[in-house]
Amino acid sequence: MERVIIIGSGPAGLTAAVYAARANLNPLVLAGGLYGGQLMLTTEVENYPGFPEGIMGPDLMMHFRAQAERFGARVENVDVTSVDFTKKPFIVRTADDEYHAKTVIVATGASARWLDIPGETHLRGRGVSTCATCDGAFFREKHIVVVGGGDSAMEEALFLTRFGSKVSVVHRRDSLRASKIMAERAHAHEKIEFIWNTAVDEVYGETHMTGLKLRNLQTGATHDFDADALFIAIGHTPNTGIFEDQLDLNESGYIDSPDGTHTNIEGVFVAGDVNDIRYKQAITAAGAGCRAAMDAEKYLEALEYAVATASL
Ligand code: NAP
Repeated sequence: MERVIIIGSGPAGLTAAVYAARANLNPLVLAGGLYGGQLMLTTEVENYPGFPEGIMGPDLMMHFRAQAERFGARVENVDVTSVDFTKKPFIVRTADDEYHAKTVIVATGASARWLDIPGETHLRGRGVSTCATCDGAFFREKHIVVVGGGDSAMEEALFLTRFGSKVSVVHRRDSLRASKIMAERAHAHEKIEFIWNTAVDEVYGETHMTGLKLRNLQTGATHDFDADALFIAIGHTPNTGIFEDQLDLNESGYIDSPDGTHTNIEGVFVAGDVNDIRYKQAITAAGAGCRAAMDAEKYLEALEYAVATASL
């Protein structure tokens, strides 16, 4: 019987592991086959406090992991395939094992959506990004393209005007999904132009991005477009597949948690991007992981005290 199982190993999961381990809960982290979360896909992280010179995303996650392991967290690089939260102890299954746990912290994160076009994967971190907050500063005085028509795209475009000489928003329709206020701000900005009814079909470049192939969705005509960076802001998908019939999700598919750590199942906690549609930052996820571990500890203390006094 595990006292705490943490599912996920991004900043939320591994911070929860540090706190749970230091509380002597001997947590088991089921980290996923590809451990470390979204930061494993980024290059330099310049906004994580404590690293004034910046740090590479994968290095930062190795530090997180080493810190958790230093205090006794056991980290297994395996994917969770299913869970059963309908009875206690909770059951967490992987392809080869079945674990029983008194508490579970769900920190499975979210995945940015990608366009799935030629050149996109090859040029990730070399011009192609899904995070303006992380990578915008690398494109000072450059021509930047943002894809998407929602609030994220407007927010990214407005943020990127701080760096780029020009920001072109490419959207597949001729009207925005974004809220009125965000749309107005973007429209009013002198550095932002809109390219409507247009899809990005390909990203060009060898060592870094040099341009895009754009396609007008009304005429079908394609043309090459010079640009230095492409920020894809077409939404995120929370990684909730294995929890769909187990935990309450909100209308956007994120795990519902009115107070930020408790779910609808007592003893199951949540942290990080899997219930954060708004901030999606490593530092906010780490903070959430800390809170979830502290709440799990309190819950366990009460549970174990109740069991101990009942058996007196
Ligand atoms: P979103 O609202 O779902 O918008 C996604 C945008 O990407 C849409 O314009 C969509 O086009 C476009 N898109 C989707 N798939 C595409 C594809 N394959 N190719 C090209 N374009 C594609 O996602 P979001 O902007 O990330 O926002 C998510 C939620 O967070 C929303 O509720 C939003 O209000 C909220 N949010 C709020 C703030 C804020 O208040 N400051 C900031 C960020 C996000 P269509 O319009 O044609 O569907």
